Amino acid sequence: MSLKDHLLARIALEGPMRLDDYMQSCLLHPEWGYYTTRLPFGAKGDFTTAPEISQMFGELVGLSLAQSWLDQGSPAPFTLAELGPGRGTLMADILRACARVPGFLDAAQVHLVEASPSLRALQRETLSGHKVDWHDSVASLPDAPLFLVANEFFDALPIRQFIRQGAGWAERLVGATDGALAFGLGPVAPQPALDHRLEDTRDGDLVELCPLAPKIIESIGGRIKLHGGAALIFDYGDWRALGDTFQAVENHQPTDPLAAPGHADLTAHVDFEALAAACPCAHSRVTPQGVFLERLGITARAQKLAETLSGEALQSHIAAHRRLTHPTEMGNLFKAMGLYQAGQAPPPGTEA
Ligand code: SAH
Repeated sequence: MSLKDHLLARIALEGPMRLDDYMQSCLLHPEWGYYTTRLPFGAKGDFTTAPEISQMFGELVGLSLAQSWLDQGSPAPFTLAELGPGRGTLMADILRACARVPGFLDAAQVHLVEASPSLRALQRETLSGHKVDWHDSVASLPDAPLFLVANEFFDALPIRQFIRQGAGWAERLVGATDGALAFGLGPVAPQPALDHRLEDTRDGDLVELCPLAPKIIESIGGRIKLHGGAALIFDYGDWRALGDTFQAVENHQPTDPLAAPGHADLTAHVDFEALAAACPCAHSRVTPQGVFLERLGITARAQKLAETLSGEALQSHIAAHRRLTHPTEMGNLFKAMGLYQAGQAPPPGTEA
């Protein structure tokens, strides 16, 4: 049996399913899910992320978090956490860069939130030599000062899609036509969570809702408000999203998200306004990733690293710098948002 057959059987029994249910099954089904069965990152995988492009990303993220930690009087012990750490590369780069900050590693307790058992195993390998605790969700993170990073985590959280019809909304559902998965529409109903979108939408417009994102932000932001700390969230998206951003990628190519469930990575743009609205502590403005990295001195760091390189390695280092920062590559599409305690400075690279 494949995930597609399993979903078709379920739809035959229960009727069309919500898009967030579909996305959850495709990504995290224990037997057939994309993240549970595959190692999706890197040149051989389906997509490449900022920490996999260059060590500079993790180094600068680490130094931003470490500066916030110093500014807050070096609380010890504290939680150093990551959501959805993939191969563990970002955390490894953070730990290496922050080894130079006196006291930081001694005080840091590393906690990773990861749903996929196979990725947990890979993270354990990458981070061997460090004591690490894993969590299924943010709810069980310690009640302590929290310094946290999430890169391309929120875009993997399941979304719902609604199409405006008058003062109500019809939900986009996944059903079946002639033995294939197909999109359909549910009945029109009011959606209180989308009341604010009645202002900027017209009949036929599509808006997205990510039910888990506000809950996760409340949990992280609540700890920062109470115990101190800072969080850096990186993802593609913008302050407010309009239209269909649900997409599937396989072998670095866009593909039909319903064609082969469990075989492609599924994501949607992150609506940073929704994260900010749920945030119980202070948050920074949404900052383009390129601007964030330039503020932290990525060009000087790139020049320093270039001194030891030549030939192909130098060319790929120059390309990586450009890819992370240039407005036509990841520099503008990806955004950073910082969470912090009111009265403190926002994490370096972001601004109030
Ligand atoms: N941050 C990494 C990987 C991004 S891919 C990088 O930048 O390279 C998304 C990651 O989030 C994967 O590790 C995936 O297994 C994890 N993930 C996705 N949904 C999750 C959920 N609901 N709970 C916990 N982890 C999740």
